[in-house]
Amino acid sequence: MFLRSLSGVPRCVSGAALRLEFAQPSIAGRAWSRAISYTLHLLASDARIRGGFSNLILRDIHNSPWKTTINLKFRSLLNLNCKTVLNLECISPVALPLIKKKLQQLDFSNTASCARGPCSGLALAIPPPEGIPLYCFTISSETKRRAFTCARLNCFPTAVLSGRYSRVPIANRTCSCNDTALETMEHVMLFCPNWTDERSRFLTPLVNKFHLPIQPWIVSLCLQDSDCWITEMTANFLLSVMKRKAALTSSLTPQMQSIRRTTERSSK
Ligand SMILES: [Zn+2]
Repeated sequence: MFLRSLSGVPRCVSGAALRLEFAQPSIAGRAWSRAISYTLHLLASDARIRGGFSNLILRDIHNSPWKTTINLKFRSLLNLNCKTVLNLECISPVALPLIKKKLQQLDFSNTASCARGPCSGLALAIPPPEGIPLYCFTISSETKRRAFTCARLNCFPTAVLSGRYSRVPIANRTCSCNDTALETMEHVMLFCPNWTDERSRFLTPLVNKFHLPIQPWIVSLCLQDSDCWITEMTANFLLSVMKRKAALTSSLTPQMQSIRRTTERSSK
């Protein structure tokens, strides 16, 4: 909820896709991390209690569900099978960073498998960042940052996106410039004649400088935030397109917007 309101992306983007985008652990992953730290803190030797709590736990005949749950989690993190005897008391706090690293890796792979869907950076082959993405710091304008985030998460305002909400068949989510071209991110960034001015101003300098071929894979390159200048120019392009699209839509009266939507649906 916090990441969604912070980034301003629509609800079609899943929580997992957002966590992947901003390199945040899941609530379960965060809770396990705290629980493991606390457990190891209890088990460690403490100057006030000789031998830490280990001696007390060993003497306690009560079969604690807490101990069983933590034990099972350690087994899974350490790749131990059920027959392996594991004494929690033998786990040293020194192992904590390694255990936490394993926990993070598992949480990341779970998040990545849940984030697979059309509104995700994975849909555009954008590698998930290892930390908070650089563009969150380098793009100071909130609206520009939002345009860039929407493009990275494949939820930029296009016919393909609006078609998902209005249940238009995928083949019919075409651009206003051409009855046969789907209005995808690739089409908007590379081919659509509606945005020739914006493209020549912001994207053509990138293509010329790096001698890039006009191929779909350069969309991923422009959006993967590997270079501040590429990111800035791409964000400028996206914001300009977003603004002009919004202006075109708002210039229509509500009746005309309704007629346009009905016409689009019936003609497709
Ligand atoms: Zn077009």
